[in-house]
Amino acid sequence: MVFAQDGEIVSPGQPICVEEEFLPGENTKLHGDGVVASITYGRVRYDRRARKVKVEPLKPVEEVRVGDTVLAEVKEVQDKIAVVEIISVDGRPLKHPRTAFILPAPRMRGTMDEYVGVGDLVVAVVINIFAGVIGLTIWRQGLGAIYSLCDSCGGLLKRTQKGLVCTRCGKREKRKIVHYYGNMARLASMVG
Ligand SMILES: [Zn+2]
Repeated sequence: MVFAQDGEIVSPGQPICVEEEFLPGENTKLHGDGVVASITYGRVRYDRRARKVKVEPLKPVEEVRVGDTVLAEVKEVQDKIAVVEIISVDGRPLKHPRTAFILPAPRMRGTMDEYVGVGDLVVAVVINIFAGVIGLTIWRQGLGAIYSLCDSCGGLLKRTQKGLVCTRCGKREKRKIVHYYGNMARLASMVG
């Protein structure tokens, strides 16, 4: 049984295959149940001839640059801005997580909490870096929350025909979301 395809990006602990198919190689570990799992962020490589699997580690990104697409976790939502921590850059982990700010949309109506919430994972683009302060936008198409948590109880918000609804308390929330909202496989590939 194979859980991850050749070339697929996996995270630490993620199952790759069973030992009967491929033996554990570099950056993998055999679990007691016969499952070979990754021990790092990286790309799966099968060697069919040697019947072995390894994981090539992804080089972490050292610096964030203007124009980069980042995945960030929302830490604090203020009136017109949100404070976030950047986790990955263009699908590769960031070596040292960096604090950044989601800047308001030009002529933004209402407050930032109508677009993002604490604990949300958002896709954003770096639009400026001034004196080490990173400014992000979520106001373009294809940007916004990919995973959101309820402001009241911390439950996962699920996309329904009525909008985002908390799976725990049933509260409806407003967010700016990406079209693949809630797609965990996509999210995993972005964490790198
Ligand atoms: Zn809730």
